[in-house]
This record gives sequence, structure tokens and C-alpha cells, in this order.
Amino acid sequence: VTPCRDYDVLLSLRAAGALDGDEAARLDAHLPGCAACRAGLDGYAGALALARLPAVSETERAAASGLAVAVVAESARRVRRRHRLGGLLFTGLSAAAVIAAVVVGPSLLRGPAPPAEDPALLADAGWQEPDLDEIWETTNVIDWGE
Ligand SMILES: [Zn+2]
Repeated sequence: VTPCRDYDVLLSLRAAGALDGDEAARLDAHLPGCAACRAGLDGYAGALALARLPAVSETERAAASGLAVAVVAESARRVRRRHRLGGLLFTGLSAAAVIAAVVVGPSLLRGPAPPAEDPALLADAGWQEPDLDEIWETTNVIDWGE
């Protein structure tokens, strides 16, 4: 049984809650005497109920807002962790500076190391004073532009 063709659109509008005015009155006048249109209205209403998303429950709302809170908390935690790492790095550098001061400081206070007293020792080690000109030429670090 299909609804009357003239009322089909009105039935779908009524099911969607979008029918008012003269057309609503016309449908209201027709429905009591037409089982096909009443069945058609039930059909539209059922289809729309299936298509419509259920209202958001309190549980879902809480879960959704909890999710937002969790996301914010997580990002805040990451920022804090990054800052903490920065702090650790800074602390490490400070410790290194203290260690460097403790280790290097006394030698600086003692002044330059005394020159080696035994030239033979240096010769044995194969050390010779570098020829700066040769180093410049070899490495070609600076282009003199000749
Ligand atoms: Zn009808």
C-alpha cells in the first residue's frame, strides 16, 4: 500500500517536523480517512528515526570532555617534560662548568707549564716546530689572491 501521491511529500515533511500552515491542516484532514497515508507517515518517521543520530548521552558528553581534558593535560605534560629536559641540560652544563673550573683552574693559577728541559726527549718524540708557511701552503686555507 503506497500513500496517496498528492500527500506523499506532505507525509515526509510531517515526519521531519517541517510541515505547518495550510498543508499541515490539509494532511490532518486527510490522515483519519486514509490508512495508506498513515502507514506512509509511520514509514517516513521510522526511516528518519534510523537516520537521525541519537542524542548525545551524558556519558558520551563526559567522555568527550574528558578526552579534551586528557589531550590538554598530555600536551601540557609534554611541554613540562621538555622544560624539565632543558633544565637538566642546563644543570649538566653548569656541572660541567664547575668541573672544568675545578680541574682547569689550578693549572691556570700555576701559570704556563715549564718548558721541557731535555731537547733530546722532544727529538725522540719526533716533534719539530711546525713551519707555518708550509702549513698555509699545504692546507690552502687562505687564498692570498696573488
Ligand atoms: Zn492518503
